[in-house]
Amino acid sequence: MKVPLLDLKAQYQAIKDEVLAATRELYETQRFILGPEVEKLEEQIVRYCHTEHAVGVSSGTDALLISLMAAGIGPGDEVITSPYTFFATAGSIVRVGATPVFVDIEEDTYNIAPKAITEKITRQTRAIIPVHLYGQCCDMDPILELAHGHNITVIEDAAQAIGAEYKGRRAGSMGDMGCFSFFPSKNLGAFGDGGMVTTSSDILYQRLKILRVHGSDPKYYHNVIGGNFRLDALQAAIILVKLPYLDQWTSARQANAQYYRELFSHEGLDNLIGLPVEKRGRHIYNQFIIALQSRRDKLRRSLNESGIGTEVYYPVPMHLQPCFAYLNTKKGDFPRAEAAADQTLALPIYAELTDEQQAYVVQKIKAFYSS
Ligand SMILES: *Cc1c(COP(=O)(O)O)cnc(C)c1O
Repeated sequence: MKVPLLDLKAQYQAIKDEVLAATRELYETQRFILGPEVEKLEEQIVRYCHTEHAVGVSSGTDALLISLMAAGIGPGDEVITSPYTFFATAGSIVRVGATPVFVDIEEDTYNIAPKAITEKITRQTRAIIPVHLYGQCCDMDPILELAHGHNITVIEDAAQAIGAEYKGRRAGSMGDMGCFSFFPSKNLGAFGDGGMVTTSSDILYQRLKILRVHGSDPKYYHNVIGGNFRLDALQAAIILVKLPYLDQWTSARQANAQYYRELFSHEGLDNLIGLPVEKRGRHIYNQFIIALQSRRDKLRRSLNESGIGTEVYYPVPMHLQPCFAYLNTKKGDFPRAEAAADQTLALPIYAELTDEQQAYVVQKIKAFYSS
C-alpha cells in the first residue's frame, strides 16, 4: 500500500471540470493580473474569515511582508514571533529591516506561549506575529491584551489556519491583519503561489492596496515604495472553485484526526506517542502532528520504506538557523521549540485519505515500536 503525505491528484479529479471551465474563460479574455476574479475572491474571503477587507497577494510570504510594510515596521523595530514556524515568518521581519525577537512555544500546541511574550516586550517592540501552527489558533486573548496595552500591531500568520477558530473568532480576524497562503499544500491551495491579507481597518486596507502595486497611487505616482505583490487571476479563479468545498474538506480532515486517535488508542500507542491537543476550538488540521520521545528519524525511514510519506515540520528552529547567527541566540534558549523540532512528525491527514490507509499507517508505527 502507498500512503503519500499529501495527494493533490485525488482532490483535482473531484473538481477538474469546474477548474477547467473557470480557467478556460480567462484564457479567452487574456486578463491575468488582478481583475474581477481577484476582487470576487477577496469578497468571498472577507465573508469566510469574518473581516471587513481582504487583499489578494502573490504568496503567503508576501502577505507577511506587505503587512509589516503597511504597519510601518522597519529598521530599529523589534517584532516578536515564534522560533518554531516556517522560515517566511522570521524572514519577512528581517526583509523590512526589523529584528526578530523569538519567544518559546507551548509544549502541547506548539504555538507561541503568551506568558513568554511579556518579558520580551521593549520600547522597540512594534509588532507580534503569532503563528497559528498546523491549523490551530494561538491563545489570542492574552496576546491581544498585551499588544493593545503597548500599542503593538498584531499580524496573524494564518497560512496554515484558514477557517480555524478561537472562541468563535476566525483566524485572520483577531489581529490587525491576517496572512494567508494558497501554496498548493495548504488546506486551500492554488495551482501555484498565492496569498491574502485580511484586515478590518480601513486605513491598513488602503495602504495594502497601494503597496501591492509598487506604492502607486494614482498610477505612476509614488508617495511610498511598495512591490509587485499582485495575485494573478488564474490562481484566484481556481481558489474560487475550491472555496465552496473547503468546509467539507476540513470536516474530512477532522474525521481523519479522530480516526487516528481511535486507532492509536486501540493499539495502546497513545501513551508512547503524543497526539495533537485540541485546546482552542476549530482545528483545521493542516497537519496531524505526533510527538515521539525517541527514534523519530528511524521511524520516519522505516515508514518511508513501507510506502508511507511523512515530514518533519520543522527540523531546525529559527533561533538556530545560520542566517540568524547575528542575533546571538544559541542552543538551549528555547527548549520547547528545540524539543518539538527533535520529536515531531507529520502524518498524512488529507481529506481523501481512506480508513484502510490510516489503519496501515498506525499498524506500521506499532510494528516499528514493537521491534
Ligand atoms: C506556508 C507558510 C508561509 C508562507 O506561505 P507561501 O505562500 O509559501 O509563501 C508562511 N507562514 C507559514 C506558517 C506557512 O506555513
